[in-house]
Amino acid sequence: MRTACIVGGGVIGGGWAARFLLSGWNVRVFDPDPEAERKITAVLDRARRTLPMLYEVALPAEGTLTYHETLQEALEGAEWVTESVPERLDLKHRIYAEIQGIRPDITIGSSTSGFTPTELTQGAAVPARIIVTHPFNPVYLLPLVEVVGKEGGDAKIIEEAREVLSGIGMYPLYIRKEIAAHIADRFLEAVWREALWLINDGIATTEEIDNAIRYAFGIRWAQMGLFETYRLGGGEDGMRHFIAQFGPTMSFEWTKLMDVPELTEELIDTIADQSDAQSGHMTIDELAGKRDGNLV
Ligand code: NAD
Repeated sequence: MRTACIVGGGVIGGGWAARFLLSGWNVRVFDPDPEAERKITAVLDRARRTLPMLYEVALPAEGTLTYHETLQEALEGAEWVTESVPERLDLKHRIYAEIQGIRPDITIGSSTSGFTPTELTQGAAVPARIIVTHPFNPVYLLPLVEVVGKEGGDAKIIEEAREVLSGIGMYPLYIRKEIAAHIADRFLEAVWREALWLINDGIATTEEIDNAIRYAFGIRWAQMGLFETYRLGGGEDGMRHFIAQFGPTMSFEWTKLMDVPELTEELIDTIADQSDAQSGHMTIDELAGKRDGNLV
């Protein structure tokens, strides 16, 4: 049985733990937070209810899940490390130094949403063994994982990483060039920025924005992405006709969509209050259960 070491067992690390475990791997967790085990158990419960529904065949028998007091112990017998500690470069560097002091031969996949491999590997003993493997929440249901290595890195390490990740039911998307926030989060940032403006300027509430997304373009994106959707928007003449028709009007709008509103206390209060009014009647666990059911 293969063994993965999970460093950091929060929202994302817990999701990785569930995905590896339900794919038949042993999972060894290192997270100094005494609450980590309780939080991972809750994620695991949700994953057990939903992940098997995505498969027509039974999943392999679960591996064993263990929690460890030290990183050294958690690394024992592991062939893969997933790092999902908070998004702070100094912390990630410290953890890589410790891991590579014990196991310089093991690949570390970082869940980082924003840092590039060049940033992650600064000062590392074995830079080629630290790569980005950026997943999406909930990691146990969403297949995409963005895989990015440092330019000039070792192609074999990337290939092995893709094998590990597709083996646990994921869709590894290899990103050839390093860029801050990789690919998918750059889209999310653009949408998030516009949502902040719409709330800041009193145009729409959090609920109205969510409805604008989920009743139309969110569903379209989910099944066909951006370009095939627009290809159809061009009718029988496809993409060229779409761009000819909408290109100029869209580029006019772009010029007004560049700034980011300041995240003032007032704006944060407005967003948090509207968000509470929207779904505060549900616990986070209930809301996550609703999400998982919809995703399946
Ligand atoms: P989180 O705060 O939920 O979890 C972080 C965990 O790391 C906590 O359980 C904490 O106790 C633990 N931790 C702190 N210091 C540690 C240490 N020294 N050793 C081991 N564990 C330690 O954060 P998160 O949302 O899971 O984010 C983790 C990473 O995943 C970040 O790099 C983030 O950018 C990335 N990510 C987050 C999301 C998301 O939607 N939340 C999505 C994709 C990627």
